[in-house]
Amino acid sequence: MTSILSAPYFHDEQAAYDFIEGRIWANGRVCPKCGVIGESGKLNGKSTRIGVYKCYACRKPFTVKVGTVFESSHIPMRLWLQAIFLIASSKKGISTNQLQRTLGITIKAAWFLTHRIREAMKDGSVDMFGVDGGAVEVDETFIGRDFRKKPKGEKRGRGFYHKSKVVSLVDRSTGRARSIVVDRLRAKTLYPILNANIAREARLMTDEASYYQTIGKMFAQHGWTLHGQGNYVNRKDNTIHTNTVEGFFSIFKRGMKGIYQHCNHNHLHRYVTEFDFRYNNRAANGVDDVQRAEILLRGVVGKRLTYRTVAC
Ligand SMILES: [Zn+2]
Repeated sequence: MTSILSAPYFHDEQAAYDFIEGRIWANGRVCPKCGVIGESGKLNGKSTRIGVYKCYACRKPFTVKVGTVFESSHIPMRLWLQAIFLIASSKKGISTNQLQRTLGITIKAAWFLTHRIREAMKDGSVDMFGVDGGAVEVDETFIGRDFRKKPKGEKRGRGFYHKSKVVSLVDRSTGRARSIVVDRLRAKTLYPILNANIAREARLMTDEASYYQTIGKMFAQHGWTLHGQGNYVNRKDNTIHTNTVEGFFSIFKRGMKGIYQHCNHNHLHRYVTEFDFRYNNRAANGVDDVQRAEILLRGVVGKRLTYRTVAC
């Protein structure tokens, strides 16, 4: 068996471009400027960079990077592929410092890579959790420090106002998680999240927090445990618990502490995306390291940037 790391696209720039082009242009080379398919040719001048094509329709040059997460990056494509594989195959994620050392790039380049790759981890799915009438667990956790101004009316005494807040939903049947960074924990904030992500047929599982009580009435069932009294499984019905989402949070917190020691509140949503991705594509869900890298790569090539710049 040969090592995956010996694949040519990890070492040879032309092979790396061929690999990415084969995926992005599987149905023909598309000019990103005018949209014409299959009417372009490779530029082969001595000083021409690898991967530059010229469109015969609009006469503009372009590369496969335009409109993708690779856009306006000077990092070699083979290093992008190495980074994607490293990030996807490490169980707990990989720090920017580690990536910088392993790939031999600057810390700034490592930051750019990891943030863009995280962008590709967003699965963008909008399907509802709990459509099968199964249990959906919802819980919140506090992490790091939120140095922004304290929201008006937030009580000091609660002790959490200065921390960032993450609400996570776990569909117990599919084993998938979806997490959202929120500014405040209250019914008004949580309602739209639960409303948009959880099917009415679902059995909602939470703790006893008051903000879930009214929202809970929207669903087929609302079960809760009395965490305040130290009960983590409902005494009358042992399917009522939030242990799955608690398990997700313990991975999330360990990862955030161990790898990403300091995370600015404004970047937290990116890390949350990464932990959702890792959790949803974990071994227990039938995804191995190579498959996870493949899924991430599909996210990378399938993700069009929401902003457009003309650089290629
Ligand atoms: Zn064109």
